[in-house]
Amino acid sequence: APSLAQLQQQPADALLALIKLHNADPRADKIDLGVGVYRTDTGATPVFACIKAAEAKLLAGQDSKAYLGPEGDMGFVHALMPYVFGAKDPTMGGRIDGMQTPGGTGAVRLALGLAKRAGYRRIWMGTPSWPNHAQIIADLGMELKSFVHASKTGFVDMDSLRFAVGQAEPGDAILLHGCCHNPSGIDYSDAQWDEIAPLLAAKGLLPILDLAYQGLGAGMDEDAYGVRRVLAEVPEALVAYSCDKNFGLYRDRVGAVYVMSASADQVGAALSNGHALARAAWSMPPDHGAAAVRLVLEDEALVKQWLAELDAMRDRMRQVRARLATAGMAGTIDLSPLGSQNGLFSIVPLTAEQIMAMREKHAVYMAGSGRINIAGLTMGNIDKFIAAVADVTA
Ligand code: PMP
Repeated sequence: APSLAQLQQQPADALLALIKLHNADPRADKIDLGVGVYRTDTGATPVFACIKAAEAKLLAGQDSKAYLGPEGDMGFVHALMPYVFGAKDPTMGGRIDGMQTPGGTGAVRLALGLAKRAGYRRIWMGTPSWPNHAQIIADLGMELKSFVHASKTGFVDMDSLRFAVGQAEPGDAILLHGCCHNPSGIDYSDAQWDEIAPLLAAKGLLPILDLAYQGLGAGMDEDAYGVRRVLAEVPEALVAYSCDKNFGLYRDRVGAVYVMSASADQVGAALSNGHALARAAWSMPPDHGAAAVRLVLEDEALVKQWLAELDAMRDRMRQVRARLATAGMAGTIDLSPLGSQNGLFSIVPLTAEQIMAMREKHAVYMAGSGRINIAGLTMGNIDKFIAAVADVTA
């Protein structure tokens, strides 16, 4: 019989458990490479200066907190579009529009929910991926078909993708990371996107593009290459977007989902389904963070400040990556591919025992997948990290 007692204890989230272990470790030189937030060279995750300024404006100017609607702040949704889809024709002639969501997670959830409502049942996805992708697909009762995203040596496995698209049937969907792949940092090159886009179109697959780290890879336009290239090729697509990393708004939950379809009418009809799904799930998204992003994007000086803050983050992560690449071999691990990978994450292919030794012997905390947060490394601790990898693999 149904009973709340039917609910079994679920395992604690592995990364959150890792945070607790890290916090409890008394060693002064401990290194946290677990949680996926950006950190400065002194280990801080500060509020962006442009956001502080926008929040001050918001506080002074906001005269009501009355409900907006399931679509959220459409000024925010539209202000973001030139950055995602290109300044020249951000709506692709009226064929793209969107709605605000609670973070990138809400955007992924809604994109997949819309795909399901539209009749899609099978989702192809390169693995490993952000673990929540598979959880959301399972929760929606959709079928996940996985293929290998990258080789153990740190490069995109194009053969695996080509084979997967060959196996896929028209009417399947495919979920791809737009940039800064989580957890591997291994992105498609422009030339690879040039090949992928027509492949998806020829097979009649629905692309679901997850863009959660725009601006943290090679640059705002550079990181949108794949999204724009695919959208130029296919008749319809969904884009899930997060502002939580590129505006540092993590806990404020800022995201958007965009629909590209054949006509403005069809986009409107699709989004009305998005509104219905949102109503049934969270009614409407939290306003504050998205309003702050809108105020940044509506102010030329704040946009300049935002892009400069993003540049500084990217430069720091490039510096860390360059140092890892220069180190080359650490014991049996070749760190040089990390130099050309992108964004907040990369995988250091250690065994479970080696990851445990990193923690116990060297106070280096990394996820069980071997994923490291590049921004957890600083010019002060990176040599210790490299030496620890060398030691546990020796
Ligand atoms: N997609 C990917 C690939 C991610 O890595 C993340 C966050 N870790 C998200 C979506 C969701 O981000 P958020 O909900 O924090 O905006």
